[in-house]
Amino acid sequence: MSDKRHIAILGSTGSIGTQTLDVIRQHPDRFEVELLTANTSAALLIAQAREFSPNAVVIRDEKCYREVADALADTDVKVFCGMDSICSLVAADGVDIVVAAMVGFSGLRPTLAAIRAGKTIALANKETLVAAGSLVTALAAEHRVAILPVDSEHSAIFQCLMAAGPNRPVKLHLTASGGPFRTWPRERIATATKAEALKHPNWDMGAKITIDSATMMNKGFEVIEAKWLFSVDVGQINVLVHPESVIHSMIEFADGAVLAQLGCPDMRVPIEVAISYPERLPLDGPRLDLAAAGALTFDRADTDRFPCLGLAFEAIRRGGNVPCAMNAANEAAVKAYLRDRIGFYDIAALVGEAMSDVHYIERPGLDDIFDTNRETYDRLAARLGL
Ligand code: MG
Repeated sequence: MSDKRHIAILGSTGSIGTQTLDVIRQHPDRFEVELLTANTSAALLIAQAREFSPNAVVIRDEKCYREVADALADTDVKVFCGMDSICSLVAADGVDIVVAAMVGFSGLRPTLAAIRAGKTIALANKETLVAAGSLVTALAAEHRVAILPVDSEHSAIFQCLMAAGPNRPVKLHLTASGGPFRTWPRERIATATKAEALKHPNWDMGAKITIDSATMMNKGFEVIEAKWLFSVDVGQINVLVHPESVIHSMIEFADGAVLAQLGCPDMRVPIEVAISYPERLPLDGPRLDLAAAGALTFDRADTDRFPCLGLAFEAIRRGGNVPCAMNAANEAAVKAYLRDRIGFYDIAALVGEAMSDVHYIERPGLDDIFDTNRETYDRLAARLGL
């Protein structure tokens, strides 16, 4: 890389966003921050804008606009608000790479805008591929846009594929920590509190993805994400519970050989791999000490105690707009769970119901996807008083 890469970060105040800025902070000669966007975290967005001097920032919530604009009035940073601003700024000439790290379905629109503008996508927002995988990958192919995974498992597979050269794997092994309830019996999981569900053993992440990890819906999303990113059948994807989170995922070849990618659980590595591809840059941080780690253990995933994982396999097998409905129902149900409105297994029950109730569309267009998302989410939100 000779020139600096100009980065837009959608969701810069979240877990992935702040860690992306940490990678950039370590390599100011390689990266330039072009655009930062946040939902409502005005104070952190202001601090980030002051440190990284982007061309522009967008605060999505209009109520926060004045606060951000006033605080940055003495700088050259342009301040905007709203989703439409995000979608137009992400397509601006100055942007090379878009780190899509918004939470949930809301990441879809700006990611589509970035793809249409030919930007390289570093994708952390897995819901984009869950809800609209066929459309997003087709659009990326049409615009010759690379979608580079930021999710640790998919980055691991991507790194293994780089090592594989022209050889295609016959199977992908996605590892899963198993979340905080890995060893709990079903009866105990049923009464799990929000605080217990939010205690992830290995990864420090945002609230939504942490609950998705506890239900293993996150792993289900990752199965769908892997299918689209690597153009494999869902039958070629195996979920393997690996509580130590040392092996981040593996690929298996037709001759039986398996390649794995290992490391400490540090999201800055997959972020760095994505934004510096095809190079690798030095990063500070913990180093893997396998002697200290001792034994690595593995187990099959249990879809009886974690029904959301089974629902995700069902959703992608049925295809069409079913994964979109699943994602929308999960978004509403997780929000209700975080507000103590429903119990832990109600999340899976509500998702399963929404998948049965959805008006099935075999080949949905983008409008169908937005309609399915809104209808499913709104119906559930009304019922749950969100
Ligand atoms: Mg992951």
